[in-house]
Formats: sequence, structure tokens, C-alpha cells
Amino acid sequence: MAAMRTLHTAPASFIVTPAPHLVSPTPTPRGALPAKAPPAAAATIQSHARPPLSPRVGRRRPCARAASSGAGAVVASVEDAKRDVLIALSQIIDPDFGTDIVSCGFIKDLEISETLEEVSFRVELTTPACPVKDMFEEKANEVVAALPWVKKVNVTMSAQPAQPVYAGDLPEGLKKISNIIAVSSCKGGVGKSTVAVNLAYTLAGMGARVGIFDADVFGPSLPNMVSPVNRLLVVNPESKSILPTEYLGVKLVSFGFAGQGRAIMRGPMVSGVINQLLTTTDWGELDYLVIDMPPGTGDIHLTLCQVAPLTAAVIVTTPQKLAFIDVAKGVRMFSKLKVPCVAVVENMCYFDADEKRYYPFGKGSGTQVVQQFGIPNLFDLPIRTTLSSSGDTGIPEVVSDPQGDVAKIFQNLGVCVVQQCAKIRQQVSTAVSYDRSIRAIRVKVPDSDEEFFLHPATVRRNDRSAQSVDEWTGEQKVQYGDVPEDIEPEEIRPMGNYAVSITWPDGFSQVYDTQN
Ligand code: ADP
Repeated sequence: MAAMRTLHTAPASFIVTPAPHLVSPTPTPRGALPAKAPPAAAATIQSHARPPLSPRVGRRRPCARAASSGAGAVVASVEDAKRDVLIALSQIIDPDFGTDIVSCGFIKDLEISETLEEVSFRVELTTPACPVKDMFEEKANEVVAALPWVKKVNVTMSAQPAQPVYAGDLPEGLKKISNIIAVSSCKGGVGKSTVAVNLAYTLAGMGARVGIFDADVFGPSLPNMVSPVNRLLVVNPESKSILPTEYLGVKLVSFGFAGQGRAIMRGPMVSGVINQLLTTTDWGELDYLVIDMPPGTGDIHLTLCQVAPLTAAVIVTTPQKLAFIDVAKGVRMFSKLKVPCVAVVENMCYFDADEKRYYPFGKGSGTQVVQQFGIPNLFDLPIRTTLSSSGDTGIPEVVSDPQGDVAKIFQNLGVCVVQQCAKIRQQVSTAVSYDRSIRAIRVKVPDSDEEFFLHPATVRRNDRSAQSVDEWTGEQKVQYGDVPEDIEPEEIRPMGNYAVSITWPDGFSQVYDTQN
């Protein structure tokens, strides 16, 4: 824990805005509050690292309390009951989105028994690795059980199916991957593969479905760092897709498992091999695909970013002053490719001996990175013989010593990656949305609080694709009257950074450029 320097002002917290009947007037306990929650009127509960319940929200035995609530503890109808439940649940705020879990759309399959005493619902999270999953479950139980008419609460927890946030023509094998994380460094030997593998196994330990793609064709290190029984990739003879090998539930693809030894290839060949390995692999459903990028900032990176819609990047560096220049290069490359860098890992920072801490490479350039590039999450990894030997034993350190200091640092990195990816997905997916209450398409202006609204029928009528306008004559194929005035989009999904794909009720899929 001591080695982590996550520069969040507020650690992940679990925030419940008060219902008057649940909150005592004692001052707010430790922990930060989001801007939206009035300080005097919110109970903050720390996530997994802290005790699960705040003293401000009474821990009640639900059934006993409901049963003893006496006269008046009834509800008139199923509709009223559902409304009560949703109001109660809307006290629970998702700390990452700053919005209540009802508005986030997490509550599914809400049912009330005929006797109007039993409530069942599902909380569908954005990721199975949600660090506040247990808290959500506990609080959801608690706030609903506290309703005077409720005698029994059945909460089930689930996660959204794996799905890329971007629409568009993705290679078949990448169509069921929610998040793709690039782990990158500008030089070799700084510990990029060590970080990629341990991060992947940490995310798997948090409950996510994870894959690792070792894109380092010149020096694939994945085969030495994991111990799958099957050390060769298999090609499905019918679909011609590559089936990843697997170790402890994590799917693995590396050129080192292709049975051809190290490659002697030139640039374009390497890009081709990487492209083929990544896109013809049948990854199946994954919550996170961790890509161990080749070192540097060259063509291969561009190819990878073009083929795979990267959600975020983690940069690995060492503490030497010169390393700052490398980090800067990496951040600039990802910024050009519009991939947010969510964390920097400063590896081989220090070692402890004779009850003292030594910094053999000086104190890192991490703070400079934070100040200059605004990457808020910085993680220090110590020099550890166990880390270097785990690179040879085939068992990642976070698996062999899950309670150790190094595993704790990776746990913090894992939580950071999960939270940042969730935020990025949320931002991307809400940049353009349909507001049913005012029947308008809402467009948020990037990097500002401004937004504007579009009339759906006008957007549909202005389509200039070949389906709507004859490419040769320019003649309008879809006439004004063909589009009903009250047409509503069925689905809006982002496509890249500046366009969205709008699906209309007649099945037509329109690409709308939000820069227009
Ligand atoms: P890269 O992917 O950047 O080339 P690797 O992850 O392969 O780097 O690491 C290079 C070598 O350094 C490996 O032998 C690895 O086991 C070792 N190593 C990496 N990080 C540490 C660390 N924090 N402490 C000790 N050895 C490390």
C-alpha cells in the first residue's frame, strides 16, 4: 500500500445520499464526497478497503424491522411499491459516475410479490470486476429492506454482456470484448510484460473475463511468464480462427505460442503477423483484453490502434530522469491516437534492505508526468527478486503471493483500470444520446458542459448516404414525407471519436458525424 501513489483526491468511495428515515444527524464520516452530494446530507462509505458500513446508515435486521413496523406498513399497489423501491435504491450513488444506480440503469427485472411484501431485482453492473460490487449488493438489500412494507428482499448481481463501446466494422474475433487496455513502454526491459501479465491476472482475480495478447513479436515473453498446459495455439479448421491457449482462466495469445520461435521479420511483416494474430483469434466474451505492446512508438502501434479500438493505455517506465522523455513520447503517441492514458507505472523504483528503503535510480519523474500530462494515477513498483523469478517460473507474482505487497499494488492498479475504463465508456456512450422525455437527440460538446439538441426526423432526413441519395444523380431517394415527423432512434452507439451510428425503427443504420 505504501508504494502506491494514486493521486486521486478521493479514493473510490461508496456514497449514499440520505433518506430521512435512515440517516442520523451525526457529522459526515471520513472520506470524500462528490460535488453533487451536499456534505451535511450524505453518508460516505469506503469501498472494499474499508469497513463496509458507515455508522450513519443504521444496520438493521431487515425482516425484523419490517415486521415490527406496525400499522401503516403497507403499500397500495405494485406500481406504488416499485416506485418506493426505485426511490430507495436511488439513494445509492455510483462513485465513478457520480450518479445514482437507478439513473445509471443498473436496476433490472424489478418484481413485487402478490402479497406486496417481497421484492426481487437484479443489479446489472457495467463490469463483473466492479470494485464496489459487494457494497452495492449490501446497500441495495439494506435500503429496500428498510421500507416499512418490505418483508423479504432478493437481490442478484450481474454484469452487462461483453460488448465494445464503439459500433462499426470490427473483426469478428474482437466483437465481444468490452475493454482493450494497451500496456506500453518506449524502451524494452523496463517491466512492461511483467506489468501486463500481473495486471491481467489481477483483473481476473476481481471476477473479470480476461485475455492477454502478447504483441511483442521480436521478443515474446508471455510463454515464460505463464504455464498453460497447451503451449501451442490451435487453429479451428472450419472457421480458420485461432483458439487462444489458457492458463488459470486467462486466455493467451503470443507469437511465442505459434511454434515458430523468435521471428526475424521486418516492419510490414511484423504488422501483418500482429494484425493476423489479433484479429483472427476467437477471443470469445472478454471484459478486458490486455495488450502487451511491443516497445517503442512506431508503425506497429499505429496498426494495432487501427485494428483494435483501444479503450485506455497504461504506460510503464523506470524512475531515471531520462525515462521522462520516453513517457512523454508514449503519452503523445496515445494522445494522437485519441487513446486516454489512465495510469503510469514506475517500475523498479526502490528496494528495502536493513530496514531502510533505497532508491537506486533516484526518485522518479512520476510527479513531473502527473503535472505535465495530467495522468492522475501513478503506481510505484519495487525491485523484487520474486518479481524477476516469477518471470521464469511461469506463475505471475499476483497468483503466487496474492496477499503480498506487490499484489496489493496491482490490486490498486486493477481498481484504477476498472474505474477509468467504466468512466471512459460512460463518457463515450453518453456523448450522443436520445432524450425520450423531450424527444430530442442530445449532443454533448467534448471537454465542456455545453450540449445541443437535434430533432430526430431532421437528422434522418439529412442523411446523405447512398441509401438516401443517389450517388450519381444526387437525386433524393428518401423523400421528406417518407420520414415520420415523430420518428425516434432505436439505438445510438459511438463510432470512433466523432461519429455515432443511429439505428432507426426501419432497420436503417445511419452514420452521423457529430462534428457537422
Ligand atoms: P519488458 O516487457 O519491458 O521488456 P519485462 O517485463 O520482460 O520487461 O522485464 C524485464 C526483466 O526485468 C525480466 O527478467 C523481469 O522479470 C525483470 N523485472 C521486471 N520488473 C521487475 C521488478 N520490479 N523487480 C525485479 N525484476 C523485475
